Amino acid sequence: MTRPKKQYVEDVVGSVPLMRYDVYYHYMPDGTIKQINPFTGTEVWSVPGRSNKPLDNEIPNTAKPVEIKDTEDYCSFCESRYYETPPEKSRIIYRNNSYELVEKIQATEYDETTAEFRRTPNLFEIVTLNYWQQNYNFKMTKNQLEWREKYLSDQEGIEHVIKVVDYKLSRQGKNADEIKFMSVDEKLAIANAFFGGSHDLIIAKRHYKPNVRYDSQLNNSGELTPEEHFQYFRFTINSLSDVYTNNRYVRYVSVFQNWLKPAGASFDHLHKQLVGLDSWSLNIENQIHMVRNNPNIFNEFGPNFAIHHNLVFAENDYALAYCAIGHRYPTIAVYSKSHHSRPHEHTNDEIRGISDLVHACHAAMGSTISCNEEWNYTPIDAVYNIPWRILIKWRINIPAGFEGNTGIYINPISPHQLRDKMVPKLYEMRAKGQLAYGIQIAEECPCKFNCLSYHLR
Ligand SMILES: [Zn+2]
Repeated sequence: MTRPKKQYVEDVVGSVPLMRYDVYYHYMPDGTIKQINPFTGTEVWSVPGRSNKPLDNEIPNTAKPVEIKDTEDYCSFCESRYYETPPEKSRIIYRNNSYELVEKIQATEYDETTAEFRRTPNLFEIVTLNYWQQNYNFKMTKNQLEWREKYLSDQEGIEHVIKVVDYKLSRQGKNADEIKFMSVDEKLAIANAFFGGSHDLIIAKRHYKPNVRYDSQLNNSGELTPEEHFQYFRFTINSLSDVYTNNRYVRYVSVFQNWLKPAGASFDHLHKQLVGLDSWSLNIENQIHMVRNNPNIFNEFGPNFAIHHNLVFAENDYALAYCAIGHRYPTIAVYSKSHHSRPHEHTNDEIRGISDLVHACHAAMGSTISCNEEWNYTPIDAVYNIPWRILIKWRINIPAGFEGNTGIYINPISPHQLRDKMVPKLYEMRAKGQLAYGIQIAEECPCKFNCLSYHLR
């Protein structure tokens, strides 16, 4: 009988000394590296002979010329199309040499300032307002109800909301007549999700790099300055905290960024997503279970393991980055070293530290590699801490029949090869002054065992 994978990990953890890293990372004479992810049990092989070209940011032959616009209008997230998203919950603006948070502006005020980042509801929620209402008897908070009333109190607000609802209905298969004859009240009921929902987007200002010439020159996380990236992180964390505040039934907020279509993005315009959930997910539950059994497990199977295999490639006072093992896609892990275990408990310096490393990774990768950025951290109602860690998964391979049959995933880039792509690029970028201050690279990294302090209170 086949055992479930998670059970297998527990068996391995329970029966083998924890420092037996060779169980999880095994080199073979021909160059094959067999890996088992110690956190998930996923079995992965990296086989030699796959292409291993260095990272570049060259314009591909398939790139098409782009018409430069004073104000970008390439997709619904672009600056001149603010009204194509549901009512904005908040935005970050740059004024008088500093960044400011502006909340719940009226429809008439959208163009009075330029948003560096915007927080808007996701028009197509994964977990809907209806889900919370039907399953938990969720009621919108006083703040949300007041905001809805104020937003709809002027004509432009109502027109904006109806227009967005009409678009949503059309995407859900309603024809023009059905939409036309639906009552305003029915449409406003649908719009309640905009004011009381728990699935938000954090949208960056730019679609393309400044002075773009080709459509491959997109504005990814690495194109932001380290300061802008920190603002992007801080704003995301502020929003994460707000999702918990507004919905008492949320036990975990999933935070992720899908970059380009192979990673599941609907627009090639930089954005993160926050989805409130009523459970931790099996993945997080398994991690909590492991940390209950061994509070130091994230040090042992995280940085300590990576240090032994020379996989750590960047570090600063607050975080470190290494090439992770046992992932079906080439994966970078960035860990916060803080004793705080939730993003919204981190100090600004700590947030800046992890943000700088994540920024450096995206900058080194360039904007043409599709990837998922996935945040993991301690759920709001957990008493056992897991560290805040961010995984960046390169979506460059597609698991196929072999993987389906065997459960063994072929990852085209081994962790060492991934490290060897990142390191020269990071040195090059540092020489050009594009990295944040204080990032140590490769051999410069202190690589101290047990550098994570999530389990120390
Ligand atoms: Zn856009």
